Amino acid sequence: MKTIYSDDHNLHSGLLDPRGFEFRESSECPARANNVIDAIRESGLGEILEPQAFDDSKYLRIHEPDYLDFLKNVWDEWEASDEIGSNARPDTFVGAGMRHVPTDCVVGKLGRYSFDSTSPFVAGSWQAIRSSANVALTGAELLKGRDRLAFAACRPPGHHATADYCGGYCYLNNNSLAAQSLRDGGAARIAILDVDYHHGNGTEHIFYERNDVMTVSLHADPSVEYPYFLGYEDEVGAGKGHGFNVNFPLPFGTDWNSYSEALATAIARIRSFSPEALVVALGLDTFAGDPTTHFEITTDDFARMGEAIAAIDVPTLVVLEGGYSVDWIGKNTVRFLSGLEGG
Ligand SMILES: [Zn+2]
Repeated sequence: MKTIYSDDHNLHSGLLDPRGFEFRESSECPARANNVIDAIRESGLGEILEPQAFDDSKYLRIHEPDYLDFLKNVWDEWEASDEIGSNARPDTFVGAGMRHVPTDCVVGKLGRYSFDSTSPFVAGSWQAIRSSANVALTGAELLKGRDRLAFAACRPPGHHATADYCGGYCYLNNNSLAAQSLRDGGAARIAILDVDYHHGNGTEHIFYERNDVMTVSLHADPSVEYPYFLGYEDEVGAGKGHGFNVNFPLPFGTDWNSYSEALATAIARIRSFSPEALVVALGLDTFAGDPTTHFEITTDDFARMGEAIAAIDVPTLVVLEGGYSVDWIGKNTVRFLSGLEGG
């Protein structure tokens, strides 16, 4: 199995997470992807490739032009302003009774294009964001060729990003870009299976009214977990997309016994759709040892998860999403991919 990876993600560093009234080092840190790629190298799973370059037209298949301009320019505008701080982040959102009007102020733009305060920008962010998207898009190109399996070691992650909002550490929606690229390459039906601990609200929203890309997500119950405002069972798609979005909200403490039951149902739904390719949004934050989450999936379970998903038996691109146990994210990723390859 080939892996696609770029060192550019290291430019998106020095990030801070809000914790009450303080800021602390972000859980979404460069060590995550560095440990994943080190584990892939040690595992001998296969070749590691640099991503290809793509022009904006690829990103514009999913994202809005004004949002892309914002992502490219926000850091320079922040530096040119009288704002202070090493991270550019919003403090004002478009709330009740306010208007979605254009603003020239960089802090206003941050509020317009962010749905939360967890996704800051630093000097190298755009280069890292673009490279992460290119990693996923290169994975899609491999599947259009002769490859049956590929792993896109993306950082920053993507599944929370919508067509024109960043949030949840995500800026461009890498798995959606890959799925759209596979569609544009001629595949009639694509399934996206999101196994990150958090609901992939961006991916759901992007494809919600479409019947050519089925979106299926297993995640912590949003009534008690981020992203709170999407990811419920009654979200089944709309218009011609009705029936093509499937959510499995699961309680805190979910272990492999109950997870595997939901996964089996998810896999059956995907198989009945007969996709021509599968994109797996792989979050490792379902791990029992993850310091930020509340599921009980073990390292051995990740291999079982990969084996179970292999039964879908179509060309599969795995896209890295979350996972915040820096010490274990590499091992758990390799176990998942080994299970997928051997299953
Ligand atoms: Zn997550």
